[in-house]
Amino acid sequence: MTAEQYIEHLMGEDPDLARVTDSIRAHEMPEISVAPGYGKLLTLLVSLTEAKQVLEIGALGGYSGICLARGLAADGRLVSLELKQEFADVAQQNLTAAGFGDKVEYRIGEALDSLTELAQAGRKFDFFFIDADKENYPEYLERAIRLANPGAIIVGDNTMLRGRVYDDERNGPSVQAMRLFNEKMIRDGRLIGAMLPAYDGLAIAKVR
Ligand code: SAH
Ligand code: MG
Repeated sequence: MTAEQYIEHLMGEDPDLARVTDSIRAHEMPEISVAPGYGKLLTLLVSLTEAKQVLEIGALGGYSGICLARGLAADGRLVSLELKQEFADVAQQNLTAAGFGDKVEYRIGEALDSLTELAQAGRKFDFFFIDADKENYPEYLERAIRLANPGAIIVGDNTMLRGRVYDDERNGPSVQAMRLFNEKMIRDGRLIGAMLPAYDGLAIAKVR
């Protein structure tokens, strides 16, 4: 057993998240939801920071959406950006089934376009979860910093790219983008950041 498996065993059954996993398989969507232990951490971080406005980039089937929504207070809201209407429909169904249908707003299309619209509308957020196309992570981070309330938290998933990010032989566009993202999350003067190496890696930063 691995440490990750042990922790998942401790966490036990979760019918709302199991429904997400089942629906992702049924719709033949990619099985790339956030890892269970990191989903639990998302709930904790949203709750800990008392974030009212949460922004997720990459909805898929709503697994991380449910984890984020679970941490929200009564007046908290989640905006979720997703390229594919079919995926957002599945995510919306799963959030509704989990009791969070009235807390989430999906915006369909290229996340960069939605981020531009949110900025034009003067929206600000307290918490960001970046988990869409890896090539755009550095730009998503810049947009998140611009949309951030002071003290906002930014989390990025899959920061190890299954080991490719620290493999000198791998230099494709996703790898280069993730290296830049990770450097900024750890070293950028606008942020206080840290990196968790378990699963596929998770970066967490606070906007100063
Ligand atoms: N956060 C989800 C998993 C997201 S998987 C969870 O943990 O439950 C990545 C998602 O990003 C996919 O649903 C994919 O369709 C979406 N995506 C990929 N490129 C995108 C883009 N350019 N704009 C918006 N969404 C995008
Ligand atoms: Mg991910």
